[in-house]
Amino acid sequence: MTALRPISLFNTLTRRVEPVTPLVPGELKVYNCGPTTYDYAHVGNLRTFLFQDLVRRVFETAGYRVVFCLNLTDVDDKIIRDSQKALPGEVDNEARLQAMRAHTDIYERAFLEDLDALRIARPTLMPRATDHIADMIQLVQALEARGLAYERDGSVYYRVSALPQYGCLSQIDRDGIQLGTSVDADLYDRDAVSDFVLWKGAKPGEPYWESPWGRGRPGWHIECSAMGLNLLGERLDLHTGGVDLVFPHHENEIAQSEGAIGHQWVSHWAHGEFLMVEGRKMSKSLGNFFTLRDLAARGVDPMTFRFAILGNHYRKQYNFSFEGVRAAEATLDRLRTFRSRMEEPPGPRREGAADPAIDPGSRVARARDEFWTALADDLNTPEALAAILTLVTDINAQDDHRPLPREERDAVVAFLDEANRIFATWPREEREALDAGIEALIEARKTAKAARNWKEADRLRDELKAMGILLEDRKDGTVRWKRIG
Ligand SMILES: [Zn+2]
Repeated sequence: MTALRPISLFNTLTRRVEPVTPLVPGELKVYNCGPTTYDYAHVGNLRTFLFQDLVRRVFETAGYRVVFCLNLTDVDDKIIRDSQKALPGEVDNEARLQAMRAHTDIYERAFLEDLDALRIARPTLMPRATDHIADMIQLVQALEARGLAYERDGSVYYRVSALPQYGCLSQIDRDGIQLGTSVDADLYDRDAVSDFVLWKGAKPGEPYWESPWGRGRPGWHIECSAMGLNLLGERLDLHTGGVDLVFPHHENEIAQSEGAIGHQWVSHWAHGEFLMVEGRKMSKSLGNFFTLRDLAARGVDPMTFRFAILGNHYRKQYNFSFEGVRAAEATLDRLRTFRSRMEEPPGPRREGAADPAIDPGSRVARARDEFWTALADDLNTPEALAAILTLVTDINAQDDHRPLPREERDAVVAFLDEANRIFATWPREEREALDAGIEALIEARKTAKAARNWKEADRLRDELKAMGILLEDRKDGTVRWKRIG
């Protein structure tokens, strides 16, 4: 096996750019904080998910096997508030839980649609918090047993003063937190303001789960610790999220997980920066709060949005503007046009074109080298992209003067496609065109079957199988398909 290319990322824990070194060489276990499914994701959230997708794609394309866990937070105060509104006063807990699930299902589906539209690869594991309540209860019990948690009136709190390393990630000083205001300080009675809630006792009319402390629900922070520990084990290679989660969420995740297991949990923490809109912080009152659907309504293609985001470094604030998106679209078009040109047979020599005298083979090798050097150094996508764009200029000039023969064109396309495993924005309709072709063959098979032409129907099934498509004829007459291998 050839040695894997080391990839370095800024580690929030050490404040340095360091190689990410998986515990098992070549196998990266990464936990990503996912969305709370109570609303449509806005472009700021989407930037975080695009950052997480970038991390995954860079490691995968570099040859690592990545276990990518992204959770769905499907229980919290807002979800409860919104999902219970329409219920009559006297309903049982089962109905309350069902109403909550029905509510989050809507936004879970919308979230998956967003992922697909943005070509964010589906996570290897996508746990819902409400499917792991027992794990959360166990984790809170483990913290209680170690003297790190205490109960007050049916709620359980983390005793922050009992954990020496509290503050290691955010480098916040504990005295500072004492002064800080906490959102639910007045609602819950606890020993110190900095103590945070692990389990919330249910109030009348709220959905609940039974627990050793009575009826209640998990706090937000405990969800990620419990799902991370249970699904990925006691040692995580990498944990990611938006920079807004460093404190308190990730600090509290560390406190919970390390408090329970007694050793370091995550070796590398990576955080993606904020997104501003037209120079201002996004907010509903300013009317600059966009979802992917809002962008589509204003003519922004999701692929262009993806490309615009990836064209900026993940650790720099990105100022979203419609003008910026148009510039990104022009660059993307240039790349697509170039790729098409390289796919086509060599054209005629352009009269008067100067000879840049480059050797396309070594020029591509150099671009590939620059591309990977940039990505391996803290995912420097702007530089990686610059390596591609200067290649485009050079090869276009060479192709004008001396049309590249087929094998040289193929080498250029191969590099573009390798880079596209990470950028996933060109060619434009690769997947859609493929899917449309599959649907057409499935339709043809349906027609053949209706005409009782079994031989043709079988032939079409085999043709699809050869394309890696497996059909499933369902009882209701519809046909489902999936990719195999
Ligand atoms: Zn989390």
